[in-house]
Amino acid sequence: MMNVEKLREIVGNDWVITKREQMERYLVDETAPGVRPKPADNVVVVKPANTSEIARILKLANIDKTPVFVRGGGTGLCGGAVPTLDGIVLSMERLDKIEEVDKDNLMIVAEAGVTLESMLKAVEEAGLFFPPHPGDEGAQVGGLVACNAGGTRAVKYGVIRNYVKGLEAVLPTGEIINLGGKLLKNNQGLDLMHLLIHSEGILGVITKVILRLYPRVASSGTLVISYDNRHDAIDSVPKILQSGVIPLAIEYVERDEIETSARYLNMKWPATKGKAYLMVILTGANDDEVYSQGEQVSDICEQCNAVDILIAETGEEQSRILKMRSELYSSMKEQYADILDVTVPPASVGVFMDRVDEIAKRFNTNIPNYGHAADGNLHSHLLADLQDKGIVRQVKREIYQEALKLGGVITGEHGIGVIRIPDLDLCPDGKMWELMRGIKRLFDPNNILNPGVGLLG
Ligand SMILES: Cc1cc2nc3c(=O)[nH]c(=O)nc-3n(C[C@H](O)[C@H](O)[C@H](O)COP(=O)(O)OP(=O)(O)OC[C@H]3O[C@@H](n4cnc5c(N)ncnc54)[C@H](O)[C@@H]3O)c2cc1C
Repeated sequence: MMNVEKLREIVGNDWVITKREQMERYLVDETAPGVRPKPADNVVVVKPANTSEIARILKLANIDKTPVFVRGGGTGLCGGAVPTLDGIVLSMERLDKIEEVDKDNLMIVAEAGVTLESMLKAVEEAGLFFPPHPGDEGAQVGGLVACNAGGTRAVKYGVIRNYVKGLEAVLPTGEIINLGGKLLKNNQGLDLMHLLIHSEGILGVITKVILRLYPRVASSGTLVISYDNRHDAIDSVPKILQSGVIPLAIEYVERDEIETSARYLNMKWPATKGKAYLMVILTGANDDEVYSQGEQVSDICEQCNAVDILIAETGEEQSRILKMRSELYSSMKEQYADILDVTVPPASVGVFMDRVDEIAKRFNTNIPNYGHAADGNLHSHLLADLQDKGIVRQVKREIYQEALKLGGVITGEHGIGVIRIPDLDLCPDGKMWELMRGIKRLFDPNNILNPGVGLLG
């Protein structure tokens, strides 16, 4: 049974919401409405101010065996923050302080509820750079770590995991642990910190994070490379990487979708030729270096039958292009049934897209594909007609099966959350799931933290 009075004692009366009409926004995330899990009926939203309040809440919940659902920015795309059982929504929004931007160690220390937007601003003000850019800046630092978010700018420096150097977390039993630190090397025992990264909130509540920063890039340029044929675009990607140029991002988009995003933003996609595009972001120590990389990439792409190459040099032009790519998902939000994030070995991206096209043809629909070409991580966008026909799951499973046949995984970015669990039977490595369940039991003996999220039960 939930002890609301005790929760009020811990966080103060103002920070507990019990009225349903005041908590609607805490009951959903950005998962497509048709597949989003249904929130439970008896939910209390609690907004702690600090780690010790969270520790007291979890101690109480663990004794009462009350489910606790951790909520960051609510931008997740697989239902992980939705309270699916009667219990507590633990909102991290008040842990919003940036404790330090440590220029000497090139690290930032931030509470988990700091949004990506605020963190990027603080880093920029300090003259530094945080490379990853998952599309929604409303995501919180704790959520980014809990989901090991990726995004467009992962080619050169990797996903969020590559930046996390230290963590503070509260375990489901209410104990507080500190892992790592401002350290670039740390071999002291098993790496529990990396176990918590991408634990989707099932092993602990992340309360503070130390992240690695980089010097601000002195110069950057964004190429938009147009092709008539998808395979020519995809074939260019390994050739660019083999050349020794490592771009910050290599994204793949197609004309219809990127123009939809441009219209949604009241912008104009700069390319007029071709129908398949690579967006390549280059960075360097000076303009000459970026220019020379740009020439190298252009030569490679021309050899791969590119029909046009544009370069955006000003910061404004480049951010407009990135914005059109980042908002692609939001621009199609009204007409989608689910957004997938399968990952295949990078060299198999073209084959995978062809197989998705075959599936689309068979089900008499259109399935746009776009995404992180150099990471092998693609977003297949399932449209609303599949919802109307009641075949979203069937189509999704066929796509997953094709990814698995190519040596891929069913999720490379957004995670399992709640909505991917029914399809985990397609990934039947029994021992792997058994070990994961054992780890969960060790951290959370009463299964109170994010029950029903992230694991084959
Ligand atoms: C427009 C758009 C674009 C996106 N683009 C990308 C992208 O490019 N790449 C990508 O990887 N993702 C992307 N996402 C997905 C999403 O932004 C990320 O998964 C992000 O990491 C979620 O963070 P959040 O704070 O919103 O977490 P929430 O949605 O609140 O929660 C997500 C999961 O993390 C858990 N959690 C949250 N905070 C904590 C914490 N402090 N401690 C423990 N567990 C916690 C929750 O319980 C839940 O299981 C996108 C989403 C949108 C809407």
